[in-house]
Amino acid sequence: MSRQTQAIIHANAITENFSVLQALAPQSKPMAVIKADAYGHGAVTVARLLRDQAVRFAVAIIEEAIALREAGITAPIVVLEGPHQPKECYLARQNDCVMVMHSEQQLQWASDCTDADRPAIWIKVDSGMHRLGFSLEDTPRVLNRYRHIISDESVLVTHLASADDLQSDFTQRQLQAFRKVSEDAGLPVSIANSPATIAWPQSRGDWNRLGVALFGSGPPLPEGAGALRPAMTLRSSVMALHAVPQGEAVGYGQMWTATRDSIIATVGIGYADGYPRHCPNGTPVMIKGQRAALVGRVSMDMITIDVTDIAGVKMGDRVELWGAHIPIDEVAAWAGSIGYELMTRVSARVPRIVR
Ligand code: PLP
Repeated sequence: MSRQTQAIIHANAITENFSVLQALAPQSKPMAVIKADAYGHGAVTVARLLRDQAVRFAVAIIEEAIALREAGITAPIVVLEGPHQPKECYLARQNDCVMVMHSEQQLQWASDCTDADRPAIWIKVDSGMHRLGFSLEDTPRVLNRYRHIISDESVLVTHLASADDLQSDFTQRQLQAFRKVSEDAGLPVSIANSPATIAWPQSRGDWNRLGVALFGSGPPLPEGAGALRPAMTLRSSVMALHAVPQGEAVGYGQMWTATRDSIIATVGIGYADGYPRHCPNGTPVMIKGQRAALVGRVSMDMITIDVTDIAGVKMGDRVELWGAHIPIDEVAAWAGSIGYELMTRVSARVPRIVR
């Protein structure tokens, strides 16, 4: 019997979200970013679900790619982040993966490989994020120097710092700066992540790198483009009910005090499951089709919610922490975080049930 605290993975939501995003950018080839265990949804599960739709997959590190290969995933895989030591270059080739190179040392390692050992490479340009990649000024020299290891598969990649901020003009500045370099390079380009694909049409390149939006999080889609559906419902159940008199406090540190005689339900999920400890009093949950508020501090294995105004709550009643009724981005905002972090932090002890 599986635990009542579960992450339900909605298979159709993932494949439909993929189709919706693909329809938004029909000129681009879509790549499903399934690093960090597909943002907590299960990388092998998601790769299998998208087997017929995604032209490529992307992961952060070679170990994630190898795990997919061991599970029988044969589609091309791009390793986005590295750090790409010589051993990883070798493993990339062995496992038929593309490496995104962001330093001259890495390119030199690839150059030193025999043709039989060298993985295909993409080249990362720093167009303003200042995290990884060759500077705009240096890119032409680098491309020239390593021309001999650039192949038909090579792509010029950049990453946008503020694509999720629709008011910021920084995305335009990055796009302009990158365009100048990429036009001279004459290589295919990959610029857009999910928010950029959705909100910045100019950023859609030859390859879009779709991560969080596959799982239903991110900026709203343009008018008429449909909607993304949440791919995960995190749920648990009521394990205890207490009448708490007015003036009594609940939980560690007495962070919430009843302002009236209250009914408090204890729910079997805590920060060890990935429910954010920073969720404050008032964070919404769903029980019996109604919203209720988190009260008191999140414990390792439990939370407490105020069900005083909800009739008939009993032991075993199901509680949704996020999903179809409580958007993950809403919970993330309460926690001072982002949907990405909440998804990726659902811990291994929470069974993933794929439906
Ligand atoms: N490309 C790179 C280089 C990334 O690091 C990420 C995720 O962090 C993505 C693409 C996918 O981004 P998103 O989840 O916003 O689609």
